[in-house]
Amino acid sequence: MKIVILGGTGFIGRHLQQFLMQHGHQVKAYGRKVFTDGEQAGAALIDAVNDQDLVIMLAGENIGKRWNKAYKQALLDSRINTAKQLKDALSLCAKPPAQVFAASAVGIYPQTACDDLLDEYSATSDSGFLAQLGQAWEAQSKNLADKVVIFRFGVVLGKDGGALAKMLPAFKLGLGGPVAGGQQCFSWIHIDDLCRALLFAIEKTGSAECDIHGIYNLTSPKPVSNQVFGQALAKQLKRPFWLPLPLWQLKIMFGEGAQVLTHSAAVYPTKLLQAGFTFDYADINDALANLCADK
Ligand code: NDP
Repeated sequence: MKIVILGGTGFIGRHLQQFLMQHGHQVKAYGRKVFTDGEQAGAALIDAVNDQDLVIMLAGENIGKRWNKAYKQALLDSRINTAKQLKDALSLCAKPPAQVFAASAVGIYPQTACDDLLDEYSATSDSGFLAQLGQAWEAQSKNLADKVVIFRFGVVLGKDGGALAKMLPAFKLGLGGPVAGGQQCFSWIHIDDLCRALLFAIEKTGSAECDIHGIYNLTSPKPVSNQVFGQALAKQLKRPFWLPLPLWQLKIMFGEGAQVLTHSAAVYPTKLLQAGFTFDYADINDALANLCADK
């Protein structure tokens, strides 16, 4: 299959491109330069999507930095305007792809405790910036093409990017501890399972036995609290878990962006499991043992 990944030069896109190519697909990946300012597609984007079978849309400013008003606007614009440009490109290209996969995030769900599982059939939230961003992003993504599948990613764990790479230095120094009390629920997925799940979706899409459509949670079936996650990471690294990072300190570091670390949602991948997908890393200890193997 001919696949183009937009937002394909980041942490997830790099892994996904390599993985899909290893499985026989022709995959092109583009970063921010393929997009223009504004809402209309430029020639580069039209050319990038033309004559492809599938577009995977991952573009968006990194959410894990310190937020201020301008940065929050950039988080929105980099998802909404790029989606508008993609829609424009799909309408202008000579041979538009039949299918679009679009990223979203579990921040769209309301806050719950770890024993209160949410799945694709649960109500979403529109309270708070993360949920409002998710709502606006999904509303735009839904209209990209006739066949759009939206994937709500949990926190993606990999050695070389995303949240884990940011946490590892402090944990390796023996400075790990609970964040903002540690009771918030952490919905996560190993990067290898994310790539395998998207390949699974590609292979199942349009098949008579199981057509993939609508919204899918890409999270392990066993979300854990921040405390359990941190203890598991410290154990793998053979380091202590003792130094709490209080909410006030988190707010100084990340501003309103602290909510990325305090948002609590126990998200369960009901539809993926119903479709027959099996996780290599359902358990956080197995995932971290793999990711910390050579640390
Ligand atoms: P990265 O920050 O590593 O990569 C982001 C990608 O989007 C890059 O290709 C980047 O291009 C592109 N991009 C950044 N800013 C803009 C912009 N203003 N306009 C157009 N393109 C832009 O993110 P990840 O790979 O970790 O995540 C990919 C997607 O998945 C994101 O939308 C993210 O919100 C979502 N997601 C990720 C999670 C995670 O745990 N990693 C969890 C939930 C959702 P360039 O290389 O040129 O900068």
